[in-house]
Amino acid sequence: MNRPQPVERMVEIIKKLPGVGPKMAERLSYHILKMSQGEVDRLLDSIQKARQTMKSCSVCYNLSEYDPCTLCSDSIRDHSTICIVETPQDLIAVSKVKEYKGLYFVLGGALSPLDAVGPDDIRIDKLIKRLKSDSITEVIIATDTDSKGEITAVYLAEIIKKLGVKVTRLGYGLPVGGDIEYADEVTISRAIAGRKEM
Ligand SMILES: [Zn+2]
Repeated sequence: MNRPQPVERMVEIIKKLPGVGPKMAERLSYHILKMSQGEVDRLLDSIQKARQTMKSCSVCYNLSEYDPCTLCSDSIRDHSTICIVETPQDLIAVSKVKEYKGLYFVLGGALSPLDAVGPDDIRIDKLIKRLKSDSITEVIIATDTDSKGEITAVYLAEIIKKLGVKVTRLGYGLPVGGDIEYADEVTISRAIAGRKEM
């Protein structure tokens, strides 16, 4: 027997979420159907509210309720150093490192020639614009340590160095092929302390 049509539709939509396979989508769908009306309302409401209130910071492109975000508008932070990350989730991971007092820039992905993701598909233009207008003396590249992240780091270093800004890359300790988002605070902290000039 096939799944009833309304459930089928729910499974199809949930299946599109990252990391959710067909089995998991089915499990989640049947779980939601068992939830009380109040729980379903809270779930839908939290999604709607987050969707409506979160915006991209016009300086660093972090997701925030405010523009500029609380990091960019914090005058105590070191505005001469920026850390480049691929995603807002990576920013959250790096921001747990208390010793890092600088600002950020969210690229919105990484270069990937195989997937036809080129410089125009991520925020390289916006990064260059910011480097030219703000007085930034060091850029720390914290893209992932997989091949896309490495290609991106090398590409960015070339461009940024031409602007006369010091470029460093997170140092040892991060697993090769890893995602910054999943690295723990101590590892990122060591990698920042051990960053190397590119
Ligand atoms: Zn910001």
